[in-house]
Amino acid sequence: MDKIKMTTPLVEMDGDEMTRILWQMIKDELLLPFVDLKTEYYDLGLEYRNETNDQVTMDSAEATKKYGVAVKCATITPNAARMTEYDLKEMWKSPNGTIRAALDGTVFRAPIQVKGISPCVKNWEKPITLARHAYGDVYKNTEFKVPGAGKAELVFTGEDGKEMRQTIMDFDGPGIIQGIHNKDKSIESFARACFNYALDTKQDLWFATKDTISKIYDHNFKDIFQDIYDKEYKDKFDAAGIEYFYTLIDDAVARVMKAKGGFIWACKNYDGDVMSDMVSSACGSLAMMTSVLVSPTGVYEYEAAHGTVQRHYYKHLNGEETSTNSVATIFAWTGALRKRGELDGNKELQEFADKLEKATLDTLESGKMTKDLALICDMQDVTVLNSQNFIKAIRETLEAAL
Ligand code: NAP
Ligand code: MG
Repeated sequence: MDKIKMTTPLVEMDGDEMTRILWQMIKDELLLPFVDLKTEYYDLGLEYRNETNDQVTMDSAEATKKYGVAVKCATITPNAARMTEYDLKEMWKSPNGTIRAALDGTVFRAPIQVKGISPCVKNWEKPITLARHAYGDVYKNTEFKVPGAGKAELVFTGEDGKEMRQTIMDFDGPGIIQGIHNKDKSIESFARACFNYALDTKQDLWFATKDTISKIYDHNFKDIFQDIYDKEYKDKFDAAGIEYFYTLIDDAVARVMKAKGGFIWACKNYDGDVMSDMVSSACGSLAMMTSVLVSPTGVYEYEAAHGTVQRHYYKHLNGEETSTNSVATIFAWTGALRKRGELDGNKELQEFADKLEKATLDTLESGKMTKDLALICDMQDVTVLNSQNFIKAIRETLEAAL
């Protein structure tokens, strides 16, 4: 069989620990035998980030803007323990944060659903995709404890020196205060990323805030979404037969629990943080979750939602057997290959991505899986495989299908 050709390179961002091991196995067993893989390789492993003073992360983000599609392996975000473990020059920033800032994106996460591993919410027939705004609000707050009685005020001083001032509270004793913000520009990017993703995946888009209580702050999110929808997207949504739906956050939560799934749920930063953990754990495992960062200009970066699985890596280094789930990392590759295929009009590449995903799901549905899934699945005959043999089992399914 001839290998599938690629015309434009994918930006490949290698990573750390157990996921770096899986990365190579996936390439060797599931990609290189079938695709004439063209990538521009960036080693985001912590050692090389340290060696290049993190320049490699910046370069990989620039390359992503240039080519439009990237696939990223999980990476270590350094903390104090990693400083000693890797003898780091500095506590380098989170690569995900750096890439997100460079691409001004929104993160979309959806569970990968398989027969035999059912969500605890039994009416969720189709995946619910969460779109999380990743800028501002309580994640970039200013807060302090009020020591005792006194007046707390909110003050804005314009460049022209003009002041806006409001009393927050006349305290009669100790308490707490907090200041948060967001920027119209960031909310506009978030809105466009959501509308584009809905059109791309032909799914309805839900958005919810607490605008009845937060009549200016949250209302601003609602207004910006509505304004951009009316001006730029309404006709496209009508043509695609999909819907944009705004409701109050309480109503959205209640409706989500009763819904069949198959839509995108756009959330403000905090709501997205909390609700994506709820949706993913209701669906079984972080390793059964796709994650893609989409910029408002249509640049895509695919990754797994989980980390580098450090505990398994240390077992692996000790020569012990591991049973690490590679599904999310495989789906990061298929997502990127399919998008590359779409942008290049390369049908064969798109079909290969579909077949590899199907082979992965078929392998799971035949009862072959890693340990994490065996613990939560409701099938009778289950074979627990190690990291390598699970990937080999997918290869067998794939070869039979090709
Ligand atoms: P983690 O890598 O997500 O793993 C936490 C635990 O979840 C594992 O110990 C394992 O549980 C289970 N797990 C996660 N992925 C799994 C998989 N594919 N297959 C089987 N089990 C899986 O989180 P962490 O250990 O807290 O973080 C490790 C490193 O990852 C940190 O340095 C952190 O900075 C980094 N991180 C990176 C990203 C990213 O690049 N996107 C995201 C999050 C964290 P058991 O041990 O019980 O088997
Ligand atoms: Mg969270």
